[in-house]
Amino acid sequence: MRAVVVGGGLGGIAAALRLSGQGYAVTLCERGPRLGGKMNQWRTDGYVFDTGPSLITMPHVFRELFAAAGAQLDDHIELMRVEPFADYVFPDGKRFAYGPSLPGWIRTLERLESGGAEGFFRFMALGARLFHLSSATFLRRPMNAPPDGAVLRAMRHMPLRRAWGNYHRAVSAHFSSPYLVQLFDRFPTYVGSSPYACPATLSVIPYLEYAFGGWHIRGGLYRLIEALTTLGAERGVEFRCNTPVARIERQGGRVRAVTLENGETLPAEVVVVNADASWRNALLGKANAPKLREQDRSLSGAVILLALNRKLPELGHHTVYFSSDYPKEFGELFDARRFPEDPTVYVNKPTHSDLSMAPDGGECLFIMANAPAVGAAGWDDAATSAARTRMMARLRASGFPDITDAIAAERMITPADLERDYAMPGGVIYGTHSHGWRRAFLRPPNKDRRVRGLYFVGGSSHPGGGTPTVLLSAKITSELVRQYE
Ligand SMILES: Cc1cc2nc3c(=O)[nH]c(=O)nc-3n(C[C@H](O)[C@H](O)[C@H](O)COP(=O)(O)OP(=O)(O)OC[C@H]3O[C@@H](n4cnc5c(N)ncnc54)[C@H](O)[C@@H]3O)c2cc1C
Repeated sequence: MRAVVVGGGLGGIAAALRLSGQGYAVTLCERGPRLGGKMNQWRTDGYVFDTGPSLITMPHVFRELFAAAGAQLDDHIELMRVEPFADYVFPDGKRFAYGPSLPGWIRTLERLESGGAEGFFRFMALGARLFHLSSATFLRRPMNAPPDGAVLRAMRHMPLRRAWGNYHRAVSAHFSSPYLVQLFDRFPTYVGSSPYACPATLSVIPYLEYAFGGWHIRGGLYRLIEALTTLGAERGVEFRCNTPVARIERQGGRVRAVTLENGETLPAEVVVVNADASWRNALLGKANAPKLREQDRSLSGAVILLALNRKLPELGHHTVYFSSDYPKEFGELFDARRFPEDPTVYVNKPTHSDLSMAPDGGECLFIMANAPAVGAAGWDDAATSAARTRMMARLRASGFPDITDAIAAERMITPADLERDYAMPGGVIYGTHSHGWRRAFLRPPNKDRRVRGLYFVGGSSHPGGGTPTVLLSAKITSELVRQYE
């Protein structure tokens, strides 16, 4: 049996590895010059930058994938636990470290609000119950049947106060300190969504980080892509870069081949699409372009990569500089669909924990702000330069050290780049946003409802975006292939 995987992002690579373990002859076609998709890398003069993810959680899910390929994660990559999870800096100058196993964390909570510790543990308990519920019903279960009424009914009748309400309201019900509300309101952005519009069920995200930790990979997160592709090649997966797939061919209601843009045909009994799921109809020859309405898109991002020729000892591994008006920022991102005037800025300095990523005496900075997924249309040179100015202005206003003279190299990545480089409509990072529980839980299924042999994997399909979820998606997809083919 032959399988073709369309796209070499994390989900595509994981699916290829799993299918080869199931006996398939697998060819993975990536349209770009490098594997990894949004989980990618930029190197310059001895500086190593991850251009996508800077933090992973649920390390057991990564271990499961290596085990499925008959390998051990620790023989291939080194996971490094990072704590505090982040330093949070607020516009009025308040700052504190967030790390639930830090000795001072309970004192910090109580200083921020009396009863803050109780609110924190109640909020984590809500996330824990939702996590255990969603593991069985959602995260590790295919959505291959049309909306599974039994599961949804079961979830709706779970005795979980607040789980079905609005996320921000649930946060506000557990905390009164504006600092803690803003801190916990940030978590839905991990899946490209607004805390003011998504369901409280997303409180599972802060719980996951609390329970399973935040992790770095020595040498950069891209080491994961390198390790998985080495393993895949050893197990017979054929990886082909610069190989865009133009069409998926069908016969009698099932897939029979893919046709590449260069006209070559690759016969296949199974086709797994790792490209954004909105490409389905275009790949089947039923439309000219991917279909993902602007109002349904999750967030994109604007990223500045800075190679510094001096150390910044005062800066930790992860630091978040909050904007002064969080509701306004999300209104700009989702309603006006424009880059915020005063964006919240996240700064990742992996060289805090991992000196292998920069030359001696240097630092790597990954600086990111959420941005609307409006692609090249909204991201010309003027817009890119304005976004950079606003991000740096937020950092300066929050007391970030002056680094102007220390910049040895710089690169900026915008939604237009994500759109062009990875064929993501508008540069969207997580497919559709999770506003409203239907969108949050009824994403495109991993097995096509109409075309036999056609499957989907990755952040735009079930169960959703973010690296661990994408790996769960690959597991579900490969199990469906085993079940149906
Ligand atoms: C700036 C940024 C920061 C992030 N931070 C984090 C983080 O801290 N933690 C975290 O867990 N996640 C993070 N993410 C999200 C994470 O990177 C993604 O969820 C994950 O990598 C997506 O993997 P995927 O399998 O969906 O594939 P993608 O990375 O979307 O790859 C799909 C691939 O398909 C290819 N393709 C498309 N069409 C075709 C075609 N016709 N033929 C051949 N190939 C095609 C594309 O070129 C692309 O390489 C971040 C992402 C970005 C961009």
